[in-house]
Amino acid sequence: MSDDAKLPRYKKSHIGEHRLRPESLMMSYGYDPALSEGALKSPIFQTSTFVFESAEAGKAYFEIALGLREQGPTEHLGLIYSRLNNPDLEILEDRLTLWDEAEAAAVFESGMAAISTALLAFLRPGDVLLHSEPLYGGTDYLVNHILPEFGIRSVPFPAGRPISDVEEGIREGVGDGPLKVVLIETPSNPTNALVDIEGTATLARSIGRDGEPPIVMVDNTFLGPLWQHPMSHGADVVLYSATKFIGGHSDVIAGACLGGSEVLATVRTMRTFIGSGADPWTGWLLMRSLETLKMRMTAQVKNARYVADYLQDHTKVRRVNYLGLMAEDHPMFGVYRAQCLAPGSLISFDVEGGEEGAFRFLNSLQLVKLAVSLGSTESLAEHPAAMTHADVPPAEREREGIGPSMVRISVGVEHYEDILADLEQALAAT
Ligand SMILES: *Cc1c(COP(=O)(O)O)cnc(C)c1O
Repeated sequence: MSDDAKLPRYKKSHIGEHRLRPESLMMSYGYDPALSEGALKSPIFQTSTFVFESAEAGKAYFEIALGLREQGPTEHLGLIYSRLNNPDLEILEDRLTLWDEAEAAAVFESGMAAISTALLAFLRPGDVLLHSEPLYGGTDYLVNHILPEFGIRSVPFPAGRPISDVEEGIREGVGDGPLKVVLIETPSNPTNALVDIEGTATLARSIGRDGEPPIVMVDNTFLGPLWQHPMSHGADVVLYSATKFIGGHSDVIAGACLGGSEVLATVRTMRTFIGSGADPWTGWLLMRSLETLKMRMTAQVKNARYVADYLQDHTKVRRVNYLGLMAEDHPMFGVYRAQCLAPGSLISFDVEGGEEGAFRFLNSLQLVKLAVSLGSTESLAEHPAAMTHADVPPAEREREGIGPSMVRISVGVEHYEDILADLEQALAAT
């Protein structure tokens, strides 16, 4: 049921009772042309500070921004200073909430800025952080090397296993806690191992202290915001490296954090004082990217399916990790069906010939570029063991199946036959 009636036109998400999809709102939602000389597109508000209409208005904005009093029902937080808010960021944040159906969003200078700010907002010395493993390299370093110096203990549990297999380890590891934050990354990188969001959230809440349930965060970079919506599986916070699919053109570093209004207010306060918010130009670029997000991600999934099928049948390829190829009798198949709306566009596989074979393959690619990062319009390939996962201890890499012959591909929007032609000649060269 729409309660749009009272909203200004640019904040309406319905036509009568008909609800508009996020992709239809990405070009206009949250932006009022009347406030910008009728410009169809939002200008870049390249300004550090904003002029108050009166001293009284300035005072009121500060009272709200600093939480000195409750915001009145008809009151809005006016623009103050671009470390706190800026139109390009506010419009972008409004649009980002639509995909995950979140109440609020905050954008950051990088994915790491989003993750570190969100963790610092909820963790204090003596607290316990439970996290899935493997994690993105930067997150892993933060959790295992930096947070412990602030007295925060991290407890890992392995991705790729049903919750019943990991429950005992989690209970033992957390002990008396207090468990304050759960950080899940699913599917994991580069193996596409899944974590059961709902199962983990339910378990974590049952072992959190009474009246103080842990905040459950999900790094949704690999499948979101289209193909996985963690909040509908019990997550409180969704995190993104917007550098990847959301930005989608390998030309901007950014991050985002989404969730309920109350949780996001805490994250925003931390962002204000750490100063990790994005700048207006980043906001503008991401708004531009969001207009084509669905088209890009849809084309990428389609291409990835062709690539995965091709690789699976190739005699020089040994094991293809792709969600779309998960067997129905796999212990995580039920989680896949319940949690993921599509298999995404990240594939990892083993090439014959160990590291030498993998390197020869990577060095022979012509269309697909040899680079880390993912989720962009162009296809990218890299060698996890020597690159993105180089500082993961060898024993852990072994456990996760990240060997010397593994290659990871992020499939782009090129014509799939061109991608396959490149893979074919590069595999022939190994
Ligand atoms: C890239 C990435 C990050 C870090 O994001 P940056 O934008 O590079 O800071 C975090 N998590 C995942 C899953 C990533 O792929």
